[in-house]
Amino acid sequence: MRARERSNTLFEKAKTLFPGGVNSPVRAFKSVDGAPLFMKKGDGPYIWDEDDNQFIDFCCSWGPLILGHNHPNIREKVIATIENGTSFGTPTKHGNALAELIVENNRFIDKIRFVSSGTEAVMSAIRLARGYTGKNKIIKFEGCYHGHVDALMVNAGSGLATFGTSSSAGIPDGVINETVVVPLNDEEAVKKAFEIHGDDIAAVIIEPIPANNGLLLQETEFLTFLRTITRVNSALLIFDEVISGFRVGFEGAAGVYDIQPDIITYGKIIGGGLPVGAYAGSTEIMSRISPDGDVYQAGTLSANPVAMSAGYAQLEECVKPGFYEDQEKRTKRFVNEINTFAEENKIDFRLTTIGSIFWMKFTDEKIQTAAQINPDSMVTFSRLFSALLEEGIYVGPSGYEVGFISKVHTEEVLDSAIEKFKAALSKIA
Ligand SMILES: *Cc1c(COP(=O)(O)O)cnc(C)c1O
Repeated sequence: MRARERSNTLFEKAKTLFPGGVNSPVRAFKSVDGAPLFMKKGDGPYIWDEDDNQFIDFCCSWGPLILGHNHPNIREKVIATIENGTSFGTPTKHGNALAELIVENNRFIDKIRFVSSGTEAVMSAIRLARGYTGKNKIIKFEGCYHGHVDALMVNAGSGLATFGTSSSAGIPDGVINETVVVPLNDEEAVKKAFEIHGDDIAAVIIEPIPANNGLLLQETEFLTFLRTITRVNSALLIFDEVISGFRVGFEGAAGVYDIQPDIITYGKIIGGGLPVGAYAGSTEIMSRISPDGDVYQAGTLSANPVAMSAGYAQLEECVKPGFYEDQEKRTKRFVNEINTFAEENKIDFRLTTIGSIFWMKFTDEKIQTAAQINPDSMVTFSRLFSALLEEGIYVGPSGYEVGFISKVHTEEVLDSAIEKFKAALSKIA
């Protein structure tokens, strides 16, 4: 067994300081064995914990690090910016630079507003949709995560177009009652919701590539249907691209499916590993945001120059021709080799993939809704997680989470990872 003494000691201390010993719940290793590993260093595709164990990292800080850890361009740009101070609470050229890079290379947005997290981006997008339409209700999908925004912390009942029940204490019924939850991949449920609440639906929000509760890839037709039904009912379509934005292509899922949403939210990759979120849309819709318009939204550290510089240094690499094709090519080979191994050895395990995202599922069936995921498979995930750690592979500590491949997960690194995956799968088979 790999040493965990230092991580264990740090976690004991952390438990006296933070609820559950962590500052974000999924870090707590609740659904896998042992205490969380405390990381001290990352370089390229590798991370090292406080006990000096080295891992190939497929968590990549839950997605932001598409260039891997400690990328020299990001490091140098951050250092150069920070030498002139960390924050001014004024506009800086760094915000212009990142915004220009994004808007000029994305056909689906004209204007953008920076915030400091994905949650903040979604929260602001919802307010904008309500302000713009003058309506109240939001349709969301079961199995889509949109950050810890009150109105979106809602689970579905199994019935069609029912109001959800809150998945957190502390959220008023009045807020929950404005949210309608429907299953993914279910046109009838969406139609029903519009029949019942049509006059009052401000927006439909979806992760166009749902990747926070397994990877629940939707059909293009379903996303097109959402575009049509929202237009017909004068509701907005919000693509929450906090995870898919700059991941499946520079234009995100909007570009992949070629669908024009009304508002797009971003986070994760956009900040190059520093805290940045954003929401964007047409000039007409975005002009409703203060100080141009009547929808208020502000932030002390919004468009922080250091964070803008990190985001710019990262996206400058992503926008280069061939970047995403290369990401996808390496990911596909990785996925295919592991899937072939699982199939040949009759192991109930497959990787599902899009772009440079993959998800580990314990069936060979196609999964497109949250309800299709067998909760018992999470026990198998936990065993696989432990076996992968022993082999030197780090993935997010939950079977509902996806893995990410970065630019520096080269063919050589992936060859090594494939062997480790095979060994771990053999162990749990
Ligand atoms: C991560 C994520 C969020 C929340 O972003 P934070 O920066 O963690 O607040 C929202 N929506 C989606 C789709 C995400 O993947």
